[in-house]
Order: sequence, then structure tokens, then C-alpha cells
Amino acid sequence: MTSDGRIGAVAAVRDVPHPIRLALRVLETPHVLLAGEGARRFAELHGLVEPFGPSPHAREAYERCRARAQAEPDRWLPHWNFATAPDVPAACDTIGAVAMDREGRLAVANSTGGASPMLLGRVGDSPLVGCGFYCSPAAAVAATGHGETIIRHMLSRAAHDHIAQGDTAERALARALAKMGDAPAGLIAIHRGGVAGASNRTMPCSFRVAARG
Ligand code: ASP
Repeated sequence: MTSDGRIGAVAAVRDVPHPIRLALRVLETPHVLLAGEGARRFAELHGLVEPFGPSPHAREAYERCRARAQAEPDRWLPHWNFATAPDVPAACDTIGAVAMDREGRLAVANSTGGASPMLLGRVGDSPLVGCGFYCSPAAAVAATGHGETIIRHMLSRAAHDHIAQGDTAERALARALAKMGDAPAGLIAIHRGGVAGASNRTMPCSFRVAARG
């Protein structure tokens, strides 16, 4: 999403190793979000389908997850068809990026393997505008963490709005994260006043700032 209001997103796609490239193609269409089979065919059209299997790390995470689900049969087994894996990477590993160019134009992008365990077809916050990302001339924000809770609070939009209303980026992120209760979440943001990153948990989260040009 860019600060001039252009949005491209994809959800529930397999075999697309670079989904942000696909999202950029969607951004060029009259639509905002493509999902499932239609997204895959659109990816084929643009030569972006490249089947890849789960990494050893993802497979191991999936096995751990399946063991946990089997240990809690009432919670998961009535729902879960186990069709999500091992074909789909089961680890979370969301990557988010926010950027500003020399003219002060902003952009945000993110990409995720989803959450574990999840049902086949589950869509989390990452491809949903206002939830996993948001951008306007005021700020660009990306989120990671428990997707369902992030969606309920439209977390990226909430953090964005605090910045737009005059909070520092640090305070804006802290205020938004306070809504998450026990659910883990992390946010990064950029605006003309600077950049910030924050999490309500010790998450395996790294945060880098790079300047070029
Ligand atoms: N937010 C992602 C999701 O719920 C998971 C993550 O951030 O790692 O799909």
C-alpha cells in the first residue's frame, strides 16, 4: 500500500515464493485483493508460480504443532483437516517493511506464512488493509503477531491514527499494542518524524533502519 492510496494484496496462495511481487501486480489492476485459485491463476499469468516445499525448519514446526493439536483433541481435532501442511510452511515468520522516499512518499509491504495451527483457507491479518498494514501521507505501519486479535482491533490503522493525531511514533505504537491484551503483536512505523518499532512481547523480531540516497 502506498501513501497515495494504491493497494494490492493476495491471500491463500500456494507456490508463490515472492507474494509481494504478486501483490504489486494486483495493485496495477482495478482490484485490491485476490485470493485462492484466482490469485494463483493471476500469478501463473505473470510467471510468479514456482512450487517450493517446506523447509526442514517449517516441517519440524509443523510436526510440533500437530503433536500439540493432537494433545488437545477437543480444541483442534473437530475443526482441523490437517490439509494445511506439510505442503504449506507452518511457521509464522511475518516480514514487514515500511519505507519513505526523498519526497516523503510512504509505502508498506508485508508477507507471511500465516499462523500455526491454522485451518486450510484461513486468512490472517497480513493481507487485510488496516489490520496487517496501513499507509497514508501521515504514516506507514506494518504488524505481526496473533492475526485474529490484530484483525479485531484493526491494529495497523489504530497505530496509524494515533500518529496522524499527533502522537510520537513510539507512543502511537504503544497505545495500539495496549489493545492486544495477552495476544502477541509487534508493529513498525515510519512517518516524516522518524521510524519506530515495538512489541508487547519478547518476540523473535528484528528491526533495521536503512537509509539510501
Ligand atoms: N500475523 C500473522 C498471521 O496471523 C502471523 C505472524 O505475524 O507471524 O497470519
